[in-house]
Amino acid sequence: MICERFDRPDMDDCIFCQIVAGDIPSRTVYEDATTMAFLDANPLAPGHTLVIPKDHHEHVQDIPAGVAGDVFATVHRLVAPVQDAAGAEASTVAFNNGEVAGQEVPHAHCHIIPRFTEDGSAPIHSIFGERPDLGDDELDDIADDIADGVSD
Ligand SMILES: [Zn+2]
Repeated sequence: MICERFDRPDMDDCIFCQIVAGDIPSRTVYEDATTMAFLDANPLAPGHTLVIPKDHHEHVQDIPAGVAGDVFATVHRLVAPVQDAAGAEASTVAFNNGEVAGQEVPHAHCHIIPRFTEDGSAPIHSIFGERPDLGDDELDDIADDIADGVSD
């Protein structure tokens, strides 16, 4: 889904907020108080589904903790029905989190993309180029920084 308004990511311009509001039609497959799921308008595979928080939050880390739990609960609930409807034996479940990571609509959304044997696609690992050569000290520092940054 292409968003031409990434430079003005306010809610009035957000295509997903407009879907939530009913101003833009969608093939909605699930909805509850805080989350919604609908077919991607430009699917990468049959059954390609997006799960979003209904409120506008740009990044995963912007979603309030309780709603983040709701989003994952909806992802968890949808994976099997999406795979079954597509006749798929697997799926890629992923967020492009931030514009640099390829997020095209600035409203956090989780992709559930059915996968098939020999569908020509690849694992998430394949989107990365050369792997960094990290020493033990660097790995220890990064692990410590992450652990220190976690708040509950
Ligand atoms: Zn939005």
